Amino acid sequence: MILKNNICKKDIFYLIDKYSHAIPRVEAEMLLEYLFNCARIDLYIKDFKVDETIEELYDSLVSRRISGEPVQYITGRAEFMGLDFIVTKDVFIPRPETELLVNMTRDTLNVTQTKNPKILDLCTGSGNIAVSLAKLIQEAEIVATDISEPALKIAEKNAVRHNLSDRIKFYKGNIFNALIFAKNPKFDIIICNPPYIKEDELPYLQKEVKVEPEIALNGGGDGLDFYRIIAKESHRYLKKFGSILLEIGFGQKKDVENIFSSYNIFEIYKVIKDFSGIERAMWINLL
Ligand code: GLN
Repeated sequence: MILKNNICKKDIFYLIDKYSHAIPRVEAEMLLEYLFNCARIDLYIKDFKVDETIEELYDSLVSRRISGEPVQYITGRAEFMGLDFIVTKDVFIPRPETELLVNMTRDTLNVTQTKNPKILDLCTGSGNIAVSLAKLIQEAEIVATDISEPALKIAEKNAVRHNLSDRIKFYKGNIFNALIFAKNPKFDIIICNPPYIKEDELPYLQKEVKVEPEIALNGGGDGLDFYRIIAKESHRYLKKFGSILLEIGFGQKKDVENIFSSYNIFEIYKVIKDFSGIERAMWINLL
């Protein structure tokens, strides 16, 4: 009898393995981190008690995950640029490829030798770009905008969480319209990861993506609406020789280049590929 009990004793490794056929190990770890309110490493070094209640709670988290809820919405957290962000269903989940835009901002500042840069982050969502930039570029002054009030609330919480609320100003409104209340809205850099999915492709997205806010995904009929607005309006908000850093979707490079080139005031300076070899981040200068 004693022997049998010992064999059946469940531990955290049992839970990590339990759904290895259905979810990646990293997600199992993220759910367990959340369940035990601990750091990932603690799962391996601390001795957590795994009883029936814990197992049931874990089962229910995994079943939410399997039914299509992204792990970040279940745990309320997402990692971006090595920082921890609060996320809810009101915001787009930060993606690793968007880190390219943050790194590109640092390159831009190095090339242009701009001191005390003023940076505008349009469509800030969870505030992941604005907050990481404020953290990485100590002397930067940052303005972030979004049309969604609930998203801005999350972005503000993320700024508070990282002790950066005095460095980032948030404004609500549609793209540049949000800036009517901003003092001297002239920037060295405008950065944006806009919604860029074609409207008629929305129904065919992965089920995990479909639960994200539609306004964070929908780029209009051809997916390019936001690029058109940015190309048309940005010169009013950029300092001379300022830069625009944009995330672009699969296959959009030529179209976005054409939109900007048609104004004859921009130079397409650089396009960077993401980890899958897809052209993902575009650096444009105002001439
Ligand atoms: N700026 C946020 C991000 O890059 C949100 C983007 C969006 O909502 N389209 O993750």
